[in-house]
Order: sequence, then C-alpha cells, then structure tokens
Amino acid sequence: MSLIVQKYGGTSVGSVERIQAVADKVAGFRQRGDDVVVVVSAMSGETNRLIGLAHEMQEQPDPREMDVLVSTGEQVTIALLCMALKARGCEAKSYTGGQVKILTDSSHTKARIIDIDQANMAADLKLGRVVVVAGFQGVDERGAITTLGRGGSDTTGVALAAALGADECQIYTDVDGVYTTDPRVVDGARRLDRITFEEMLEMASLGSKVLQIRAVEFAGKYNVPLRVLHSFQDGPGTLITLDEEETEMEQPVVAGIAFNRDEAKLTVRGVPDIPGAASKLLAPIGAANIEVDVIVQNVAADGSTDMTFTVHRNDMEKAAGVLHGVAESLQAKEVSTDDKIAKVSIVGVGMRSHAGVASKMFNTLAEEGINIQMITTSEIKISVIIDERYLELAVRSLHSAFELDKEPSEE
Ligand code: ASP
Ligand code: MG
Repeated sequence: MSLIVQKYGGTSVGSVERIQAVADKVAGFRQRGDDVVVVVSAMSGETNRLIGLAHEMQEQPDPREMDVLVSTGEQVTIALLCMALKARGCEAKSYTGGQVKILTDSSHTKARIIDIDQANMAADLKLGRVVVVAGFQGVDERGAITTLGRGGSDTTGVALAAALGADECQIYTDVDGVYTTDPRVVDGARRLDRITFEEMLEMASLGSKVLQIRAVEFAGKYNVPLRVLHSFQDGPGTLITLDEEETEMEQPVVAGIAFNRDEAKLTVRGVPDIPGAASKLLAPIGAANIEVDVIVQNVAADGSTDMTFTVHRNDMEKAAGVLHGVAESLQAKEVSTDDKIAKVSIVGVGMRSHAGVASKMFNTLAEEGINIQMITTSEIKISVIIDERYLELAVRSLHSAFELDKEPSEE
C-alpha cells in the first residue's frame, strides 16, 4: 500500500464525463488499497473565463478580488469529483486550500507556499477517505484567499506530496509523458522513461510546457518522485527523479531538445569599450522590469564593441525604447531589433562527462546551412539563437544527430 498524490489538470476534468472518468480511476486506486490525495484544476477554460469577467469590471482587476474570483474554478471541481466518488461508493472529502490550510504569503495572484497543515488530511486518509484538494489556491495569515500563479495546481500537488511524505506525485495530463522534443515538430520524438529534475527544469524553462517550472523546482528541492502520465491512457509515463546515474545509463548524452519562439534580439553597435558600459546599457532594462536572457558582447576592435541580448518578444519595443536613450548617452552608434529569431537548446546531464557535444551540435547545424547568431551554455545545456525560419529543421536534425529518434520497431 502506498500514499499517492494525483493531480488532474483542466482538460482531464473538463466535462461531466471526464470528471466521472477520473472518479472511476481514483476509485480503482483506492480499491487496490492505496491512500489517495487528489488535486484538481478548474475545468478547462474556466480560469480564463473568470479572468475575462474580471477585466470587464476593472481595467487592472484588484488582486485580492481576483483571487477570490479565480479560486472558485477549483472549488467547483473538488465538489463535483467528491460527489462522483461517493456515487461509486468511494468515501471522499473535498478541501479548499484554506480548509487544508495551505498557508501562503500575501502576494495575490502569485503567492508562495509557506506551510501546509497535513493533520486534517491525514485523519481523513486514516478513515479510508479519498482527500480531494483544490489546486492553485491557499490562504494567507489573515485568512485571505490567495492563488499560486497560472498552472499552479502542479505546485499544489507537489507541495502536498512533500508535506505528506507521499511515495509518488502523479501529474495526470493530456500527454503520456515527457518527450525528447515536441512530437508536433518531430515525428520520431520519443517518450522518456526517466529524466532528472535538473534536465526537466531546463526543458521547462526552455519552452517545454508539460509541467509548471515552480512545481519541478519544488519537487527537486524536496526530492518528491514525480511522474507525468496520460489521464485516460494506460502507460508508465515519465518519472522525474534525482537519480542521475541510473537515468544517464539508459539514455543518450542529450536527453531532449527544447525550443521557443518567444524571444527577440536587440543589438547596440559601437558601444565604447570602457568599464561600466554593459552595466549602463543593461541596468535600465532591469529597472524597466524586462528580463534579459542570452547576452553576447564582442571582443572590442578600435575601442568599441557590439552588444546583443535577447528579451521576451512582448518586451522588445519597450526594451528598444529604453536602449535608444542610454545608447545616445553612451555615444553608441545604433540600436537594432529582430524578432524573427528562435532559441534551440540541447539538454542533458550526460554533457558533464562527455566532450564534443557542442561541436557536434554546431556541426549538425552547419551541415544544414543554419547560421548560429548567438550561443550560450550551462553545465547541462547548450542553446543557440537562429533565424526563426530554420527552427523546425534545426530541431529535427539535432534530434536525429543525438540519436533521439524512435527505433523503427517502436513506431
Ligand atoms: N486553473 C489554474 C490555471 O488555469 C491553475 C491550474 O490549472 O493549474 O492556471
Ligand atoms: Mg490549467
């Protein structure tokens, strides 16, 4: 017998029929003798609908009231799921975040969990009940309802699993696991049996959307074994684990290829090559609350240099505005922008112990005639910025060069 926390996302509870199918599934686990805590999201589309309503009332909706509003989505699904479980003869009890007492700070719409009181849940589990908890929400010390940021139910699931010392946290969703890359781009993309927290974190921050980044961070920090599974198809899913060695042995050096089209590039030419220039250019960008990702500065020639960096595409115009001002005061030559770029990254803990991964990546792109505009690396990833037009070609060729394609027999 084990204690399992299961999280079902919005599409998995998106209709009456699906909630009933989830109830069948949960009741099945219970019958086999497992203790089950279920975390659910709002029915798909519901959170967006509520946010839409808020914006009809107020241009910048009040954050406290926004949380009161959007937390209702999850409150609907916990009640419906409990009713469906009871209809199947399975004892169950629903909890809002406040009823559990998932204590958070008071940053409305992006609150952080401080503490979870697990006494009530533990008592219900002991009585043989399934505990059904509303994802995405908590309560601050004054009793105000808070929410954890979009996609926050993943974090609720992981946090409950950590607090309860669960044997596994299972994230049920509409894909059957974590893939080597997006299967919509590469036919031969494969489901991974295992991936490490570190790799998953890189994949998630680099554009793979299977799990909320914060949930992965949390799971890694508290060493909660995390498994991504399809809600309605049987299969082993993908286990996300700390166990690097075991994962590495079964796997090629590169675990996956991530990519995104969300960034834009800004270049300042003719920046004087003097101490403080980079800081003068980038400090106002930070002050404008714009996050900078990749940064490249050229080696200077004739006393001046070029500096290029990327920001989120939505921030490009704002960043350019800020840069024009500082560039002028630095007597830099020109500022240019480009939003037709894409970032492609290879990720794998195996890179630590294998040389030649970068040159293989660059070679592969060269053979396809793809020009690399910028490069950035960390211990377990290499990212390149390329022309957006070549994104799919780059991902496909890297996927096969690093031997990630499905074996023909697996088709
Ligand atoms: N319902 C919330 C959202 O759509 C939380 C979640 O689904 O995880 O963002
Ligand atoms: Mg959702």
